[in-house]
Amino acid sequence: MLETEQLIELEILAREELERLERKASAAGDSTAAVSPDKSIGRLSRLDAMQMQEVAKEAERQRGMRMHELREALRRMDLGEYGLCSACGEWIDYARLEARPELRQCSRCALRS
Ligand SMILES: [Zn+2]
Repeated sequence: MLETEQLIELEILAREELERLERKASAAGDSTAAVSPDKSIGRLSRLDAMQMQEVAKEAERQRGMRMHELREALRRMDLGEYGLCSACGEWIDYARLEARPELRQCSRCALRS
């Protein structure tokens, strides 16, 4: 099971990661703006720009999901439900949570699903 110190450490990690992603999200606002149909950039570079935009959108989507998961993890910490595997109910390894504080399953269950 998790010690209080470990829980505090994980809460700090989750908050820091969430803040980092929030900063990134606001910085990325410009890069996902619509590709201008400006004739001067030509057809191919416009396709490039659109492809870049797709990549940026996908990154943004994944970032959004991760931010949601981190907020959920912080909520579980508040409720005192944090750290137990959602599949088998066993404690999740601290090392695993240290790497990804938002994870909800232990390594065994994650491999099985
Ligand atoms: Zn499990």
